[in-house]
Amino acid sequence: MASTGAATDTIAAISTPPGRGGIGIVRLSGPLAASIAAQLVLTRQPLEHARARLAEVRDAERAEGNGPQAARPEGKSIDQALVTFFAAPRSYTGEDLVEIAAHGSPVVLEFLLRRTLELGARLAEPGEFTQRAFLSGRIDLTQAEAVRDLIEAQTLTQARQAASQMGGALSHRVAPVKQSLVELIALLEAGIDFAEDDVDVTPQDEIARRIEALTPPLAALEASFSRGRIVHDGLSLAIVGRPNVGKSSLFNRLVERDRAIVTAAPGTTRDTVTERISLGGIPIELVDTAGLREAAHGSVEEAEQIGMKRSREALADAALVLVVLDATQPIGDEERALLAAVEGRPALAVLNKRDLLGTRHDLLERLAPPAKRESSVPAAKEAPFTPPAEVAGIPALATSALTGEGVPALRERILSLATGGAAAEPGMLTNIRQHQAVTTALGALADAAKANVNGIPHEMILLDLYRALWALDSLTGQTTPDDILNLIFSTFCIGK
Ligand code: GDP
Repeated sequence: MASTGAATDTIAAISTPPGRGGIGIVRLSGPLAASIAAQLVLTRQPLEHARARLAEVRDAERAEGNGPQAARPEGKSIDQALVTFFAAPRSYTGEDLVEIAAHGSPVVLEFLLRRTLELGARLAEPGEFTQRAFLSGRIDLTQAEAVRDLIEAQTLTQARQAASQMGGALSHRVAPVKQSLVELIALLEAGIDFAEDDVDVTPQDEIARRIEALTPPLAALEASFSRGRIVHDGLSLAIVGRPNVGKSSLFNRLVERDRAIVTAAPGTTRDTVTERISLGGIPIELVDTAGLREAAHGSVEEAEQIGMKRSREALADAALVLVVLDATQPIGDEERALLAAVEGRPALAVLNKRDLLGTRHDLLERLAPPAKRESSVPAAKEAPFTPPAEVAGIPALATSALTGEGVPALRERILSLATGGAAAEPGMLTNIRQHQAVTTALGALADAAKANVNGIPHEMILLDLYRALWALDSLTGQTTPDDILNLIFSTFCIGK
């Protein structure tokens, strides 16, 4: 167990964001919470667990300045508030907790906060309310992380994922594995401790079977990280290609529908534009290498050169790449080089301007020199245009940024490229810390299995099993060192 470090002090913070709002909340947690609150507000009825009470916020003498003008009669109200008391241990933190919801005036809220400090509370550290919830055993570490993720969610999908983890989805997935592991450890320990007392030593194949049974659920958990990570972090997508192929037009098409979370951010260079869209709830940062015509005042060749250079830079940093080609133009050497550069990486070749193409024949005409084509192709001349499945080994599809044709399919292809086809599931691993814990556990189990096969003494196998258990415990926070805990909670906002 992590040290519970029984918090004896009372913490206070403004839990609503800075600025003015309809409502603002000051939160208090700790043994003095109720008594401090009683001095701050006047309720008509006594505080009662989980009941909101209307209250007057008491003004204090010499609240501002100390001249006679500033003096106000004690007990006068400065605001009305709704006060909710949660008695330990049935509160968020597991301690006595009071929330004072006043009007969202920073002046009133700061006054209230200052009064709590005068009356014996101290300012809460970032994330300290949640840290106390964790330390009191109300929630485990994955649930605490989910609180932060929920607050920071940018898409509803992210919020849902966080809420499910907050409800214990990940912990529930780990619990049965841990249970079986503990049983196996107990079995081996018993064999050692009571070797002389007629307790049978567990046979080698029994141990092998039990270790083997632990692996698939953990491996599935480990695999969930590929989807969980991108739901959590999102990823970047570079749109590269020669000038004039329609990169900006496609960029605008992709951004169009998902304005909800779009945030304009300055590009990494003067000539890249970055926007964030949400595809299937996954935040995707689009990097467009546009603006070249303005940048290159010189010749067409110069614009081409700069365009290609920028494309290469952009694709180096991006998780996904769209190589945009003009379907009506032959593919040049530079474009082939771009396609070669993304081979083996998550990338799509987008044949844009398909509206200008009539038939499949037209496209083939341009993609491959006539000499290389099979003789049957001319027969397809009248067939409707169907894009090739691949261009230079890169999966391809055709779009028209002008008419919007093929853009919904492009979104779908981007999404499946982003997720690697992995489906969303409950209890996914969403951050590196969690992933490391599971891979460590898997590695330790593999070592235990190997040791068992080699007939190594059970004492040594136990070391590996304990290592696996320790890793799983660190996932939920039971064996996470204090400095790591502090690091995690310091990423929360104050008041949470
Ligand atoms: P970029 O330089 O690659 O960003 O290309 P732009 O998006 O600025 O497009 C270059 C030109 O091609 C503009 O005149 C666009 O209107 C046009 N364009 C872009 N996409 C299409 C398309 O799908 N069909 C047609 N017919 N024109 C397009």
